[in-house]
Amino acid sequence: MERVDKILSGGIVLTMNAAMDVFLNGAVAIKGEHIVAVGAAESIADRYTADELVLCEGQVIMPGLVNAHTHAPMTLLRGLADDLRLDVWLIGYMMPTEQSFVNPHFCRLGTKIACAEMIRSGVTMFADMYYFEADVAAAAAEVGMRAVCGQTVLKFPAPDASSYEESLQYTRQFIEQWKGHPLIVPAVAPHAPYTCTDEILSACAALAREYDVPLLIHVSETRQEVEDSRKEFQMPVVPRIKKLGVLDAKTLAAHCVHVDSGEIRTFFNHRTGVAHCPTSNLKLASGIAPIREMLERGLNVGIGTDGPASNNDLDMFEEVRLAAILAKGATLDPTAVPAKQALLMATRMGAQAMYMEAITGSLEVGKRADIAVINLNTLHNSPKFSRDEDAVYSQLVYAAKSTDVRHVMVNGVWLMYDQRLLTVDEAALLAEANALAREIDRFLIAREGNLLNKLIAIGGVERAESFEIQVKSHLPERVDAETIVAPLLKDERVRVVRKSYYRQYDTYFTFQDETQGRVRYREDDALNAEGEVINVRTRLTYTSPVKEREFDRAVLLSRSRFIAPATRPLRFYREYFRPNAEYEVHKTRHRWHILYKGVLFYLNVDEILVPKVSGTFIEIKSQTWSMRDAEYKAPLVSELLTLLGVTEEMRVHKEYVEFAAT
Ligand SMILES: [Zn+2]
Repeated sequence: MERVDKILSGGIVLTMNAAMDVFLNGAVAIKGEHIVAVGAAESIADRYTADELVLCEGQVIMPGLVNAHTHAPMTLLRGLADDLRLDVWLIGYMMPTEQSFVNPHFCRLGTKIACAEMIRSGVTMFADMYYFEADVAAAAAEVGMRAVCGQTVLKFPAPDASSYEESLQYTRQFIEQWKGHPLIVPAVAPHAPYTCTDEILSACAALAREYDVPLLIHVSETRQEVEDSRKEFQMPVVPRIKKLGVLDAKTLAAHCVHVDSGEIRTFFNHRTGVAHCPTSNLKLASGIAPIREMLERGLNVGIGTDGPASNNDLDMFEEVRLAAILAKGATLDPTAVPAKQALLMATRMGAQAMYMEAITGSLEVGKRADIAVINLNTLHNSPKFSRDEDAVYSQLVYAAKSTDVRHVMVNGVWLMYDQRLLTVDEAALLAEANALAREIDRFLIAREGNLLNKLIAIGGVERAESFEIQVKSHLPERVDAETIVAPLLKDERVRVVRKSYYRQYDTYFTFQDETQGRVRYREDDALNAEGEVINVRTRLTYTSPVKEREFDRAVLLSRSRFIAPATRPLRFYREYFRPNAEYEVHKTRHRWHILYKGVLFYLNVDEILVPKVSGTFIEIKSQTWSMRDAEYKAPLVSELLTLLGVTEEMRVHKEYVEFAAT
């Protein structure tokens, strides 16, 4: 008789090994971290005696579930912003909040809560991608869970690094620190092809290969991502990352919703693992990943909950069930992804996708003891049949719930016994999470009430100008721009610095509370003399309500204007700012930068196309910085108007948007 530490006996043992062996009255013997025997209860009893014997009658003893993709610390952001499009959700809400709140403590607290939730749903290993990943790793290890921890690298400043070089350096240190840990496998996680440059992707791939660690990345999550990749890089997402060497690493690609057969073949040839995240893909309306085709092709497809801010829970039972039934609905074939296959994806195949199959994912001698015991003695799991030997898989996938998970062990150590968590203090963690939620709430409420803060939150704000001296006149007849300015340009005191010609498409967002100011999205098409587009630029301008002061014949406008390049589609800004009303102004603009008596003026001759306003507008503007400067420039504006032959009656005070708004 060999003495072992623990024997779990008398339950249905699902090994999930290559032969998919099942022992209806089975047992598992554990010594230290390892499984030393799996088989019929009697034969185990004949050979082993244990310090701890756990009787599992009416229960299933199976490998712990593998959550192949999540962002554990985001438990703290659960329910913060929902029912939004991915870009608005991510760029508009998640990233700004993360930028302000995510720190090492946040990551430890959020990870512990995630671990507690995952243990309760039978999970023993997860793949994570987040910031301060060393703290995610430390928290997971403290709780006793197994994890592949991917340190995020991306082209934007992140909560843990102001540049990608810095995060790459951090990742290197993180790997060196954690490599060889009994529970944690450090990894490199370039966030996604669209948030990383070619250089970042190549550098991450090189780092993953150098240390032989996994590389975690989001791939082809939305159709937009694929379209943008075709436009920007002249190829779809998978060929691009392949070219950059990303698939030469031990890569685990999350989502893969919009991949074609060729890309699936590429994954197969590179042994790329896939993390299928059905709830997240449905909730964010990204689509349905072609997992049946991936499985038929021979890919290792795991199942992931994705982060709790986009799911919104970490319940792997729900996720496995959805993976099975969604595949049927998507292919109109009820035989697609049977329960047994779905459970395999959530165990051994998930471990394969994470490059962890040598140590976990199935109940086999020599593997680590990562085990979940599920109670089937419940109403919703009754009755039980034995005719179909796969019935137990159906029961687990289609009927069982995470609340049926009774015991969970990782690396031979109990993390939950009789539904009591042994390594985390749930009440203390929740109290802390709730206190933090109140702080985040206050931060977002303040931001939502201030347009400028909302603009700054999404980044890229360039410059602010506060004072402008300006006059606008309207000629009722349409007059050719060159003809209008000819007398002025002839004057010897006037020197033309630059001449340009544009077609401008403006969309104004206005708000219920007018003191909030407004936001303008402008597409500037620069035209050549023939009227052909030679350059396109899109910009976002925030303008506070204007304060006017009359000066001679000109007007001093004081306001704040913040300009940022508009790198996202108009739709993004509409959904993010949620204006009360929206107005369109389209116009052609001839613009001269002129020096008059040494002062720089902008002279605009505009024709408004939308809304239809007949005639021609002339604007003269100059930036100013003080009242004295404005007082000096006002008479100069007056002189220019005289040179142009513009009279007082032609003056208009309205801004273009006001023509559209009335
Ligand atoms: Zn994700």
